[in-house]
Amino acid sequence: MKLTKLGILAVAGLVTLSSIGAEDHHAASASFKTTKVKDNLFMLSGKGGNLAVLNGAQGILMIDDDYKAMSPVLTEALRSFGGVDKLTYIINTHWHGDHTEGNLFFGEHATIVAHDNVRQRLITPQEIKLFKKVTEAYPEKALPSVTYDSKMHLYFNGEDVELVHLPNGHTDGDSVILFKKANVVHAGDHFFNGIFPFVDLEHGGNVLNMAHNISELLKYVNGETVIIPGHGAIAGKNELVAFRDMLVGTSAEVQAMIDSGMTMEQAKNKGLSEKWEPWTHGFLSTPVWLGIVYQSLMQDKNNTFNN
Ligand SMILES: [Zn+2]
Repeated sequence: MKLTKLGILAVAGLVTLSSIGAEDHHAASASFKTTKVKDNLFMLSGKGGNLAVLNGAQGILMIDDDYKAMSPVLTEALRSFGGVDKLTYIINTHWHGDHTEGNLFFGEHATIVAHDNVRQRLITPQEIKLFKKVTEAYPEKALPSVTYDSKMHLYFNGEDVELVHLPNGHTDGDSVILFKKANVVHAGDHFFNGIFPFVDLEHGGNVLNMAHNISELLKYVNGETVIIPGHGAIAGKNELVAFRDMLVGTSAEVQAMIDSGMTMEQAKNKGLSEKWEPWTHGFLSTPVWLGIVYQSLMQDKNNTFNN
């Protein structure tokens, strides 16, 4: 079995995980890779979650803004779109630092938009115990100043940008962003393309709910839709369906182990079917993913999860 970075560190026990940011699974990168998605829409990949840029005469709308350490490099990358002074809107898909720490730098240049719960999370310190990662409270200038509950639209650069809240999936404050005219979707961390995802159970996340949410998202998607995942390569409908089916399929295997009375450690020792093996390469090892699924299903069973 190939061990991921997290798996190796956990086994070796030599390095504390505090040095690893939540979902800090990309290779350290000193630059952004810019990929044209369609017309004036681009994907930027740096160290954290994938960014999107909608560029035009009205300015730049940017989805997510990576770690704060990447802000100087991101500033450079934005030059090709007219520079940071052209930044008008930043949308945060959810509160995790690998998607929002750039708010600390770019917040004073743009209006930050997010779901209500993103502001509520960022206004106080947050801890992700799985990664031993503490996020300090953000100052006002780095907080979303426009928030919404279930849906909202931004009409910008000739595009109809629709934000749709998917409740209690990856976290309790996730947005997916639909570029209606371009038929492009930024799925945030409801989509890790081809790899086991992090699901933040401590902050309202739930594995089966995430699968349900993806089924809802698929109502907006057709065979031509281009989908930017929170992590991984640009994708289409087939990859999103495969991801949803992996969430459901691995959950069914873990549920069977729970039903047979296995503890989480026993379940981890048994592992998952061979067919899920390709999903372990890139971020979470199978035991870490299995542990998240086990805990999520136990939360459902104990009814501690309230949507
Ligand atoms: Zn995340």
